[in-house]
Amino acid sequence: MDFGLKGRRALVMGASAGLGRACATALVKEGATVALCARGGDRLQATAEAMGAALAVPCDLSQPGAARALVREVVAKLGGVDILVINSGGPPPGGIESITDTQWQAGFQSLWMTAVDSIQEALPGMKAQGWGRIVLVTSTAAREALPNLTISNGLRAGLLGLVKTVSNEVGPHGITVNAALPGYHATDRMKDLGLTDEKVAPQIPARRLGRPEEFGALVAFLASEPAAYINGQSIACDGGALRGF
Ligand code: NAD
Repeated sequence: MDFGLKGRRALVMGASAGLGRACATALVKEGATVALCARGGDRLQATAEAMGAALAVPCDLSQPGAARALVREVVAKLGGVDILVINSGGPPPGGIESITDTQWQAGFQSLWMTAVDSIQEALPGMKAQGWGRIVLVTSTAAREALPNLTISNGLRAGLLGLVKTVSNEVGPHGITVNAALPGYHATDRMKDLGLTDEKVAPQIPARRLGRPEEFGALVAFLASEPAAYINGQSIACDGGALRGF
């Protein structure tokens, strides 16, 4: 299948490692011109060079205003953003009594305001050309709360409401907005949370962690030309782990 992505300009956030890197790699392989962002300069630059990305922009998405400045810089350097993949580092675990206000605010900034700000900045260009793809990387936690991931569970569930609302607004302009929900995938985030293959595989019908490139393939498809009629959806890539419909 031709994804129709040759020459499309994509911005993938949080892409020096893990799922973001896999999304960016998939888009580069499909012929898109890809810009990456992450906090650290060295790893980001090395990742961008290894995959053949066009641009690497250091950016800390936990800082107010960072996502807006990022989109503006990429628009200025690539001439526009046709595909926006919204992703950032996961928030820390913890129960309701242990999480500090600072952690809630950092989580809200990274997960929520990054989405709102980057969508607002990217939309005028997408609307002007009558084509755009926005994919939010969230989590299966948006549908089924995971133990002790209070910030993630709470904020990501709300993001699905944002996706649905914005999709109605932008659909008439040839723009789609969808959420891609990763289940357990083999990335640094899983190591940080102590979630090994042995611990989680028995709960997953596929009996293994996902490979980041399997998630990247879903995001590249949602960004593609043939996915033009898929809008406002939240689609899991989880080896069948979600129990609900
Ligand atoms: P990861 O930790 O492996 O990679 C995160 C990427 O984001 C890295 O490139 C990192 O440098 C970048 N990043 C982190 N904080 C940032 C910041 N403040 N500003 C800019 N860039 C930043 O994580 P991952 O496993 O790839 O997960 C990506 C997202 O998906 C996270 O929000 C995570 O919670 C969520 N998620 C992951 C899984 C999984 O199984 N890996 C499952 C569900 C949800």
